[in-house]
Amino acid sequence: MKTAPLLIYTSQYAQFDYGRDHPLRLYRLGLAYELMEELGLLSPPVEVEEPYEASEEILLTFHEPTYVRILERADREGLAYPEYGLGTQDNPVFPGMFRFSRLVVGGTWEGIHRALEGRRVFHMGGGMHHARPERAEGFCYLNDIAIALRELERRGLKTLYFDLDAHHCDAVQDAFYISSRVLVVSFHQYGEGTYPGTGALQETGEADGEGYNLNLPLDRYTEDEALWWAYQELIPPLLEAFEPDILFTQWGVDGHKDDPLTALFLSTGIYERIARDLASRWHGPWMAVGGGGYDLVNVARIWGLMWSAMIGREVPEELPERFLRIAIMEGYDGPLIRDLPEWTGTPGHVPPEVKQRVEFLLRACPILC
Ligand SMILES: [Zn+2]
Repeated sequence: MKTAPLLIYTSQYAQFDYGRDHPLRLYRLGLAYELMEELGLLSPPVEVEEPYEASEEILLTFHEPTYVRILERADREGLAYPEYGLGTQDNPVFPGMFRFSRLVVGGTWEGIHRALEGRRVFHMGGGMHHARPERAEGFCYLNDIAIALRELERRGLKTLYFDLDAHHCDAVQDAFYISSRVLVVSFHQYGEGTYPGTGALQETGEADGEGYNLNLPLDRYTEDEALWWAYQELIPPLLEAFEPDILFTQWGVDGHKDDPLTALFLSTGIYERIARDLASRWHGPWMAVGGGGYDLVNVARIWGLMWSAMIGREVPEELPERFLRIAIMEGYDGPLIRDLPEWTGTPGHVPPEVKQRVEFLLRACPILC
C-alpha cells in the first residue's frame, strides 16, 4: 500500500481564463502551488501528479450526452448556449473551456483512485459542486465531485462528503439525496440573496437517504468560534458512526472574512484547525478538492496551511520571500501566512441559533441517534 501524500496539479490550469472581469481566476492555483513549493510542502515523500483529461465515458456517468456535446461545440465554435448555462456572466464561453473542465474531472477521478490506495490527495483544481447534469452553473461546467462520488457509490463504498465552501453544494446534494452511501455535510452561508438559495436545514434527504444530507446554514458574519463548535459537534461523531471508506472534503475557502463574494467572517485559523483536526483523527483514504475563493493571496495562504495540515508539516510564520513579493503586488499587506488575529469570535461564544441548528441535525441523522 502506497501512503505518500499526493498533490494533483498542472501548470496548464493557469493558461485557461474565464475572462478579465470574472471573479474566478485560475491563476490562484499557480499561486497556491508556488507557495507550497517554496514552503517545502511538495518535497518527498510528497508526490505531485498531473491530471489527465477525463474520457467522455466518465463524463456521461453524471452528465447528459446532449449537454456534453453542446459544451464541446460551444468551446470549439466560441458560441453561447444560454439554455445550457453557457455564455452567461457566471459561465462564460472561453477558449479551452471543455479541455479545462475535462482536466478538472480527470484530476478528481484520478484522485479518488489514488486516495483509495490509502493516501491523502489534494486536487486544488477540483470542487465544481454547482454543475448540473444538463447545464453549467455557478462557475462550474462539469461536476468533478458528483462524478467521483457516483463512482465510489457504484463500487459499493461509503463516502463522508464534507463541503466547507461558503456556497451550498446544490448539485451534489441533489445527486445523492436518496443515497445512504454518500453522507453529504455542507456548511454554508444561507439567507436572502445568497447563491444558490438551497441548503436549508430541513433538506435532510429522502427515502434511503433520509438523514444522510446535513446542511448547516450560516448567517452572515458567522465567526470561527461558532463554526469550530459546530464542526466538533458534527464531524468527529459522524466519522465515527458512519465509518466511511473514504473521506472527501471540498475546501472552498470563500468563507474567509475578506472574500469579495460572500459575507462570512472566517479567518485562516478555522481552516487550518479543521484540517489539522481531521488529519489527527482520520487515517483512511482522504480526497480533498478546492472550490471557491476569490481573493487570490488568501486562497493560496489558506490552501497552503490546509495542505501542510494534511501532510502533518509545520510552516514558518512569515511567507517565503518570492511568494511575498507576488502577494504584495496582488495587494496583500502582511508578511504573515496566517491572519492577525488568528481567530474570529469570542472564546466560548456560540450563537443560540447555531446550537439549535446543530441539535436539529444530530437528531435528523439516523446513525447518531
Ligand atoms: Zn463558493
